[in-house]
Amino acid sequence: MPNQLPRARFRPDQTSFSKVTFDAVLLDRDGTIIRHVPYLSDPAQVELEDHAVEGLKALANVADYLIVCSNQSAVGRGFCSITDVEAVNFKIVELLAFAGVTLDKIYYCPHHPNDGCECRKPKTKMAHWAAELFSFDLTSTVVIGDSESDVVFGKNIRAASVLISKEPENNLSTRADLVASDLLQAARLLGDLGPNA
Ligand SMILES: [Zn+2]
Repeated sequence: MPNQLPRARFRPDQTSFSKVTFDAVLLDRDGTIIRHVPYLSDPAQVELEDHAVEGLKALANVADYLIVCSNQSAVGRGFCSITDVEAVNFKIVELLAFAGVTLDKIYYCPHHPNDGCECRKPKTKMAHWAAELFSFDLTSTVVIGDSESDVVFGKNIRAASVLISKEPENNLSTRADLVASDLLQAARLLGDLGPNA
């Protein structure tokens, strides 16, 4: 199945380290980069997921941009404020920067699922904002997240998709192109798709 990923492209200008290269990785936040805490609003509760740092570093080798697209309906539900979300995001940026990882941008949808906004995944507004800002083609991106709505988000922008799942056997019906246990495995699977793998 992996070699059916259609939109990854090989860059002939690269050296023998060449890998399949994506314009960007569009990453989910909770349960993908950091541990999932329901309606997280306290930066002190931020904890990176297993192998998140190594995974993001490896992903930076197969993609030009690392961009977070995250649903934060806790705001719309009244459980936390925009300020709380920004504080949590800042904490993530800080932890990752300390480990040598740079996120290029963090987008989030603060709306309630019933608001009918265009940014809540699997709707595509956040991806389009990223594509416009960084001038890349969404069909040359890969979406990585821990929920099927991330996979559908990927399908909606015609990107490749990786489902993060600690229990792959429970995700047999996923539409994802790949299933990985964490970001490092995701990066390895994506990197191994290259002609020099
Ligand atoms: Zn929204």
